[in-house]
Amino acid sequence: MKNKCLYIQTFGCQMNVHDSEQISALLSGIGYQQTDNIKLSDLIILNTCSIREKATHKVYSQLGRIGKLKEQNPELIIGVVGCLAQHLGTKFHRKEDCLDFVSGTQNIHLLPEIINTLIKDRKKITEIDFHNSLSAMNIFATPGKDRISAFVTIMQGCNNFCSYCVVPYLRGREISRTSKDIIEEIIKLVDLGIKEVTLLGQNVNSYGKNLNDGSNFTSLIKKIGEIFGIKRIRFTTSHPRDLSLELMNCFAEEEKLCSHIHLPVQSGSNRVLELMNRGYKIEEYTKKIDYLRKISPQISITSDIIVGFPGETVKDYQETIDMMEKIRFDSTFSFKYSEREGTAAQKLEGKIPEDEKLIRLEKLQMMQNKHTLEKNIELERSLQELLVEGESKNSKSDLMGRTSSNKIVNFRGEPDLIGKFVEVEISKAYLHSLKGKIKKSKEACIVY
Ligand code: SF4
Repeated sequence: MKNKCLYIQTFGCQMNVHDSEQISALLSGIGYQQTDNIKLSDLIILNTCSIREKATHKVYSQLGRIGKLKEQNPELIIGVVGCLAQHLGTKFHRKEDCLDFVSGTQNIHLLPEIINTLIKDRKKITEIDFHNSLSAMNIFATPGKDRISAFVTIMQGCNNFCSYCVVPYLRGREISRTSKDIIEEIIKLVDLGIKEVTLLGQNVNSYGKNLNDGSNFTSLIKKIGEIFGIKRIRFTTSHPRDLSLELMNCFAEEEKLCSHIHLPVQSGSNRVLELMNRGYKIEEYTKKIDYLRKISPQISITSDIIVGFPGETVKDYQETIDMMEKIRFDSTFSFKYSEREGTAAQKLEGKIPEDEKLIRLEKLQMMQNKHTLEKNIELERSLQELLVEGESKNSKSDLMGRTSSNKIVNFRGEPDLIGKFVEVEISKAYLHSLKGKIKKSKEACIVY
């Protein structure tokens, strides 16, 4: 059978990145090889995101361009998957005539059947039912050649209903994979050379709640820590309310757990946190940060912040700024509030004008950049253990590695160090990366 070419473009979060890896693995089973050249493709899939307005606009613009390719090649199959596909369903077909299929967030496992049906009969297909099954999460995606780290989905969906968020509507309720399935997947990944895993879920802290077998996220991390060959464990994303003492203690007790936590705070104002339905007060959040820093002094803490939430007063905004001054995050993803259809926040009064949101965002980001740079400067002259991931983006003669605290370090080194752990001294700090230097001989710098 002649191989056909598949082009996938991914928008949004790491869950989507991993879903795209799984789609590619599944479709290779029916003869599609992934390509970077959209013009050579027989099948184009956009893995969409609808978390913010901007992400949806990008999808529509790309579909406009892709539609023109179909005019030149009527055999081309075009489909959308992911959150925006889940949200719009059949409406997507009405909006974008070039689409052959729309497949929702819990239907990845149906893609081979969808494509085979389309090859026989070009009738438009929509599959957006929630199956609440583990089929999609259990698809094994073989990591690309030379990969040393991999994503592993441990759960999907969310039960939290933060008032601004569409995830519970588009990804469904929380459902966790069994620890047996997760461990088996990680052992397979280790056999393929993977040394670091990032455990994925919308709220990994509530892992295991639906399993009723006593499993929780901490016990899962400990079991993964016992797998020979796994050297580093990361996870994303956590909800601050569900960050238990037991899980925080893991940062001190489980040596394979990396010294980094992404803990979205969203606002420094208790009034706004309540409007957001976040379920914690800022004092509880800062207490958890203090504890994490006490038991794991090297830990880096990153966060998400929304500015201009409906009803956010100047005082509320100032409380966010004060909270950031106090905590000094290593970095943050910050956004202007973006109204999403069907959410509780859509009905809130006190919408903030766009230009005001922009002013607030720019001020906050300037302050964060200052903190990020200061945090990076604190690492100058320190010794850091890196997992070397590959060539540096800055220069072909440099390599790039990552610290346990998730900082990128570029350093001069030979390609045979890729995939190894090395120790470097940080010589210079920048806003988005660090520069390092191998202190000892090449052999001596290899940690393992
Ligand atoms: S915790 Fe809140 S923000 Fe995160 S996915 Fe669930 S509803 Fe959305």
